[in-house]
Amino acid sequence: MKTNLDHLLDALETNLPDWFAAEGLPPFRVGQLRKWLYQRRASGFDEMTDLPKQVRARLGECFQVWSMTVVKHSVSPDGTEKMLLQLHDGGQIECVLLREGHRRTICLSSQVGCAMGCVFCASGLDGVQRNLTSGEMVEQMLLLQRLLPDDERLSHIVMMGMGEPLANLKNVLPTLDAACREDGLGISARRVTISTVGLPAGMQELRRAQTNYNLAVSLHAPDDALRNQLVPVNQRTGLHDILREADQYFEASGRRLTFEYVLLAGVNDSTAQAEHLATLLKGRPALINLIPYNRVEGLPYQTPTSAAVRRFRDVLEQAGLQVRCRQRKGDKINAACGQLRRASTKEAPQ
Ligand code: SAH
Repeated sequence: MKTNLDHLLDALETNLPDWFAAEGLPPFRVGQLRKWLYQRRASGFDEMTDLPKQVRARLGECFQVWSMTVVKHSVSPDGTEKMLLQLHDGGQIECVLLREGHRRTICLSSQVGCAMGCVFCASGLDGVQRNLTSGEMVEQMLLLQRLLPDDERLSHIVMMGMGEPLANLKNVLPTLDAACREDGLGISARRVTISTVGLPAGMQELRRAQTNYNLAVSLHAPDDALRNQLVPVNQRTGLHDILREADQYFEASGRRLTFEYVLLAGVNDSTAQAEHLATLLKGRPALINLIPYNRVEGLPYQTPTSAAVRRFRDVLEQAGLQVRCRQRKGDKINAACGQLRRASTKEAPQ
């Protein structure tokens, strides 16, 4: 969808109040517009019947509400839905809706591709193209919201799609603010989780923003030698600084930390590695989220057996750590963790 019009969802979180002022319109009109988009699920200006006709016409001359097209919408037997979206400049991203009991969780992308280079993840295979704007992230939220019946609401947000959210914090923060505002989606900050590869500077910036979102740190290895191989950006950050920032985040926010650990058979899933991880994390009020590797076409890694996962988990639990094993969702449509990628053409046939 390429036009010369500005993206309304971007303006809404940035300069729309200025535009309204310049047009000589009262500020409460912005609130009306916000309500139509976030709460009444309007798809265009025509539906916004409490805005005067001339205002709607003027908005239509200057803005487009939507900036992306849905290239593909897949529904998995477990209720997970994935959308492949094409951006105005041709880039492609994916986002996911997960259903679990009463939970309606959305998983958003923050960048087109990813620069972190984790060796087991599909999202970074082609590097990063650019950051998403706040409007493009809000658009993912609104498109996913519209998959729900009118009487259902989105309850949780995880920034675990394509990209590294802390590398695009300046756009991620206004997006999540829109999600949490009363006149936005009204989602509690306690139900928002930002997952990071572990960028100390970004973690510090997030702490200083005092938003108190949940923080999940992707560890994947108990020592720097292995982590440097699996998560190449670790060569610049190192585990020590990441854990120090994670502790500070916990102290400042009071939010229990999560450490994610993708289990790759024969690479990082041995009993000795579990013991090492337990020593590293001992004493921290943290949850360890074990994620058995989801297959990515073309990558050489294997998913550990459930017995191996159990063994790894037992070691951690015996050391007094809290562990949860992430249930695989959406893998039938390549929507599981690490399976989101930049181009649909490279997607495995379904
Ligand atoms: N850049 C953020 C968000 C990434 S996705 C981060 O690194 O945390 C969320 C989680 O899925 C991360 O922990 C990521 O390492 C994990 N993941 C990536 N590829 C995976 C795969 N093939 N199988 C299972 N989990 C994977």
